[in-house]
Amino acid sequence: MRPRELLAPPALAATRLLRRFRPDGGIRILMLHDVPISQRPALAALVAGLKAAGTLLDPATARRRLEGEPGPGGVLLSFDDGFASNLEAAETILAPLEVRALFFVCPGLIDLGEAEQRAAIAANILRGQRPAPEGLMDWRGVERLAALGHTIGSHTRDHLRLAGLSPDRQAEQVGDAARLLASRLGAAPDWFAYTFGDIDSIDRSALAEIGRHHRLCRSGVRGLNTADTPRLALRGDHVDLEASAVWRALTVEGGLDPLYRKQRRRLDGMVP
Ligand SMILES: [Zn+2]
Repeated sequence: MRPRELLAPPALAATRLLRRFRPDGGIRILMLHDVPISQRPALAALVAGLKAAGTLLDPATARRRLEGEPGPGGVLLSFDDGFASNLEAAETILAPLEVRALFFVCPGLIDLGEAEQRAAIAANILRGQRPAPEGLMDWRGVERLAALGHTIGSHTRDHLRLAGLSPDRQAEQVGDAARLLASRLGAAPDWFAYTFGDIDSIDRSALAEIGRHHRLCRSGVRGLNTADTPRLALRGDHVDLEASAVWRALTVEGGLDPLYRKQRRRLDGMVP
């Protein structure tokens, strides 16, 4: 058992106790990636639990709430990178429960041939940390997601890390992706998620470029989104489907939020 798993039960109990005194009306955006078959039962249990609790928001409602419409908060699901397993999860887990989610894709990678795409996934997405599990959805898959009522967002053109790129290359990664997605889907997406999601993977000029093309930008910096959260600095909570249910509950219920206070402040400071 990993050390963090030992700490999860008491931390979860403390989080639930605190919530009783400070009910949160904000929006939590969960962040998932590829969902191999071995992780589908955990995803199915998570989605069914959130659905039964009545806390799931669809992307359109979440967007209106984030833009100021009054109403109860909730949880929004998002999937990064556009792996083929995302479509399978949408068909087999989300569709039967009538759950709508956000899917962030990289249009430049979708267009690559099979061998080039595998190389790009290994180099740009997984960066040698694990072997490429599978290929990406093709455009028919992306269009199928849209037809199922899901919302497609941009995740840069080629899944490059935006921080530190020249402004020209940032404009290419953000602007080209918006144009490619608009030509396929009829309109540039409202939503963007920057690659890798951590605070060191974004900078001021990249966020300014994102703001030229999109209304909302989700990070991977943990926290609850409220009416005061800048729309280009939305918090996102990575969910580890291989972790124990208690650890997953801790992350989903905001138990790790206090550890990201400084990062949230840094992110807000980059918003143009
Ligand atoms: Zn990604």
